[in-house]
Amino acid sequence: MMRILSFILAMGMATAAQAEPKANQLFGAQTAASRQAPMPIGSYNRGCAAGLVQMPESGPTWQVMRLSRNRAWGHPEMIEFLQALSVAARQIGWAGLYIGDISQPRGGPMTSGHASHQIGLDADVWMLPPRRLDLTVADRERISSIPVRSADQRSVTANWSRAHHTLLRSAASDDRVDRIFVAAAVKLEMCRTATRADRAWLQKIRPVPGHDTHFHIRLKCPRGAVACQTQTPTVADLSKGGDGCDETLTWWVTDYLDPPKTPPQRPSGPRPKGARDFTLSDLPAQCREVLASR
Ligand SMILES: [Zn+2]
Repeated sequence: MMRILSFILAMGMATAAQAEPKANQLFGAQTAASRQAPMPIGSYNRGCAAGLVQMPESGPTWQVMRLSRNRAWGHPEMIEFLQALSVAARQIGWAGLYIGDISQPRGGPMTSGHASHQIGLDADVWMLPPRRLDLTVADRERISSIPVRSADQRSVTANWSRAHHTLLRSAASDDRVDRIFVAAAVKLEMCRTATRADRAWLQKIRPVPGHDTHFHIRLKCPRGAVACQTQTPTVADLSKGGDGCDETLTWWVTDYLDPPKTPPQRPSGPRPKGARDFTLSDLPAQCREVLASR
């Protein structure tokens, strides 16, 4: 018995030794962008990015948080977009924006957190309205954002404000934005309070679990970005051309939270590969060049 066990163990170790390194380790180890023209390569959940630029740590209307992660790298269009949005934040009475994760210096799967954020076109923005923009590096590691969604996931908290609504509307109305992820309770509240005349932008606000202390902006593939894969289904498909304030949204605060008593059959077969399982062979071929670039 012991002999069989040690044989199995040895076999396991031999396989591990030959295994291809994980893409998230390779991309997670990068400290600077590739010296290439900007190009998002692949999809938000499976790709990498050439020629990213770094969001400056601080600006007149923003601060990047958690600097130790070195994830404030984005496609130039994303950096431009965030800076403009932080100016819009001044108009709603905030000092600016606290910026969370964008991408690693060369994009790619991350060593922790997020399945997406791989091609420089996703960014997290904190729900915490900045009162000051002179936080030290240490402050930016220590301070946390605030939940705008209740612990039972059904409603917004007192932290949610009209200013949040205005900021998200302004972001979603930008043509460069593909979609924005928020907690379902946040979208429900926005559906309830949006004016009847101007609701087209609401289509881009999408309910995704976990987005209670930040919102997640996803930009469309920039014009001419031939290696960038547009996401399907589109938000227009998902909301059947409407504003998404429908039963698919209510589902998140009903059946999703109180599932029917008979659990659905788990699909058999191996678990599909997640972002942290990817090796270079799982990513578009150009990602090898992105890694190899100076
Ligand atoms: Zn995100």
